Amino acid sequence: MDGKKMTALNKKTVEDIAVKGKRVLVRCDFNVPLKDGAITNDKRIAAAMPTIKYLVGEGARVILCSHLGRPKGEPTPEFSLAPVAVRLSELLGQDVAFASDVIGPDAKEKAAALADGQAMLIENVRFHKEETKNDAAFAKELASLAEIFVNDAFGSAHRAHASTTGVADYIPAVCGYLIQQEIKFMGGALADPKRPFAAILGGAKVSDKIGVIQNLLDKVDFLIIGGGMAYTFYKAYGYTIGNSICEDDKVDLAKELIRQAAEKNVALLLPDDNMVGDKFDPACNDMLVDSYNIPDGWMGMDIGPKTTGKYAGVIKSAGTVIWNGPMGVFEMDKFSKGTYAIAEAVANSGAVSIIGGGDSVAAVKNSGYSDKMSHISTGGGASLEFLEGKDLPGIACLNNA
Ligand code: AMP
Repeated sequence: MDGKKMTALNKKTVEDIAVKGKRVLVRCDFNVPLKDGAITNDKRIAAAMPTIKYLVGEGARVILCSHLGRPKGEPTPEFSLAPVAVRLSELLGQDVAFASDVIGPDAKEKAAALADGQAMLIENVRFHKEETKNDAAFAKELASLAEIFVNDAFGSAHRAHASTTGVADYIPAVCGYLIQQEIKFMGGALADPKRPFAAILGGAKVSDKIGVIQNLLDKVDFLIIGGGMAYTFYKAYGYTIGNSICEDDKVDLAKELIRQAAEKNVALLLPDDNMVGDKFDPACNDMLVDSYNIPDGWMGMDIGPKTTGKYAGVIKSAGTVIWNGPMGVFEMDKFSKGTYAIAEAVANSGAVSIIGGGDSVAAVKNSGYSDKMSHISTGGGASLEFLEGKDLPGIACLNNA
């Protein structure tokens, strides 16, 4: 276990600190989609409820904060968190007051007036340009609203902003349940995986996943490659890839990764067959071909059934599976089969299964298997950086247990 991850695994949680009667600033991810001022999907608010309910139940005085959209550092009515306070009140079953500023008089008055077990929400932290600059004076002022900081916004934990990191310089800082789960599953898998450990990596480009591949090569037993990034590896092997997506400037890197995998005794698996299309269009002509010989004028769009069977066999035998990136262009029905078949294999494998953020989460949700996964990450960029082995500032700043 290396020192860095040991630190991430070792962070204090809300349960490790006395909160009764204390004002607790909780950084949440309430970056919800809005249409004409109405919330169209409240999953992120619902996901924050376990931490909020725990704090309220323990008699803390809860001050919630979040960013919403990209308001460019000034008050912008369309990015107001006011609708979130209404939804929070409904989900919590008690009134959640809303302060119309962040560190202004309204926030300060309402925070001071909180009774034990009450909660409030302050306005969008990104209404101040100092937030994303992690300005020390702004962070200090924000921290002065409270006596304890709880970070529960994993999706923003890779950003060193005032409300994710800066406030921890002034008051004790712990994680909420959402971040605790991320650390437990992703940190646990990286530090001490149940073996065999298989990583499944897909998505459009190798360049987005270089850091992840390099970090995982030191840890996994199997590296399963699918999606658009496979064709850069094929080119490294000298295969014919037709019009498939390929990063020519990464072919040498792919060769190096193949060499490193062999040196580290990692089985690097590439597809044997592919569904190809004659254009990038749901209405294209399609056919199944061997991966080493994709004809001119055709592009690889999904893994084929032979590959799915091979990958499913490895997944079935695995003790831990981490998956980041779809196996094909799953947004097009006819090229979604490979991704969904892998979702089914992961769900039924009995392995500890961890789905990295972004498109793989959407794919797993569409597949109907999300309930069978051990952990679905709540952060896209943050989960990639975590898998790259980087210290996330929003986690590094928390107190060690
Ligand atoms: P990422 O965000 O890097 O995980 O990439 C996800 C995107 O990769 C999805 O939108 C997929 O449609 C795309 N993708 C997967 N396989 C392919 C492929 N063979 N060719 C082009 N794009 C692909």
